[in-house]
Amino acid sequence: MKNRWDDIQINLLEFMKHAAGQSPFYKERLKEISDTNWNQSVFEEIPILKKYEIIGKEESLLTNQMTKLYIEYTSGSTGQPLKCYKSHEEKWKKAKLLWGLRTKHREVGPKDLYAMFYAFNEEDLSTDSVAINNKVMYLSMLDMSPKRLDDYYEALLKYRPQWILSVSTALYLFANHILERKLDPSELPIKYIEINGEMLFEYQKETIEKVFGSIIYNHYGSREFWCIAMSCNYGNLHLATEQMYVEIIKPNKEGFGNVVITDLSNRVWPLIRYDTGDIGRLIGNKCKCGSVHPIIEITGGRSTQYIQSGNWISNPILFHYAVTKVNRLFPDAIRQFRVTQTDEKKFLFLLVPGIGLVEEAELLLKQELQSKLPHDMDITFIHQGKIEIEGPKFDYFIPYQSKR
Ligand SMILES: [Zn+2]
Repeated sequence: MKNRWDDIQINLLEFMKHAAGQSPFYKERLKEISDTNWNQSVFEEIPILKKYEIIGKEESLLTNQMTKLYIEYTSGSTGQPLKCYKSHEEKWKKAKLLWGLRTKHREVGPKDLYAMFYAFNEEDLSTDSVAINNKVMYLSMLDMSPKRLDDYYEALLKYRPQWILSVSTALYLFANHILERKLDPSELPIKYIEINGEMLFEYQKETIEKVFGSIIYNHYGSREFWCIAMSCNYGNLHLATEQMYVEIIKPNKEGFGNVVITDLSNRVWPLIRYDTGDIGRLIGNKCKCGSVHPIIEITGGRSTQYIQSGNWISNPILFHYAVTKVNRLFPDAIRQFRVTQTDEKKFLFLLVPGIGLVEEAELLLKQELQSKLPHDMDITFIHQGKIEIEGPKFDYFIPYQSKR
């Protein structure tokens, strides 16, 4: 098998020259790169790009200040989201790639109705339990109590979406609920399920398949890159495009290391050797499906631990939502946070205050949490200078380890 470097190195060099020539950020960083010295080790000497380095100075990476660009934000589980830029044409190409895969798998197209579990509307921060907007039915993850899941099932029966987009934990809860309640999922016309945003564990996949059939595909992607890999009919995650050069940095003896990506398909806001924060390995392309694209295995992330108190259950993204709302109205209010559930009804909310954390901002945070959590919950707030980050992905919620 030919080395991927050989296939891509000419395009990579051209991309480096483009970034060094047009982007203020890369001018210095890539100054050693030239036609005459170009080789794999020169490329590998370019420093790894960490998300925290560019938060707050995202514009310095741009290679074009003139065009109107598409902007979106990473979920920012540490409190600070990254502003991601793409040209409208680049965004369209990325969407086309993704829809191509969906159509190939289960003939799902952009015209089909779908349902997705969500936390909040990115534009107006609304958190309705069921909302329909432009072919999508949104079901809230902020309350996944049994009674609410009954409502979701009824809503799906009525709306009849063709496919579901979900994080694994939310759909796993819902599938279990359908089994427990002995509901008949064949009443729903679901022909495709796409899991994104979280690891999909085998036990989750089995339960979801028991309910909906073998129609589950795993989508590994991010706001920065959109689709990086998609699973095939044999469950292997194949890299989705040759426009991304994927490296595994500092691999251990099983080959797992940091997943670092250079995305040639975003020329307007180049990400060169960007650390995704994920741990994974590349294992060639030997798959029964016949795809020539390498298989990537992602690990390290554990399943999201839910917030539970009695019968009430919610995705901890609830805290992220409240912090996002505060930061949207009071910029630089909360720089980092971590919530620990210390008891069935008690939370410890550590936060690193920024200059925007005025009294009204703190009040808003409390109000938002009170309106989303059960009424008898008690929250203690503590201000800190910094919160230590452990592991590849920062856990902003630590659940209560009850002895149930
Ligand atoms: Zn395959």
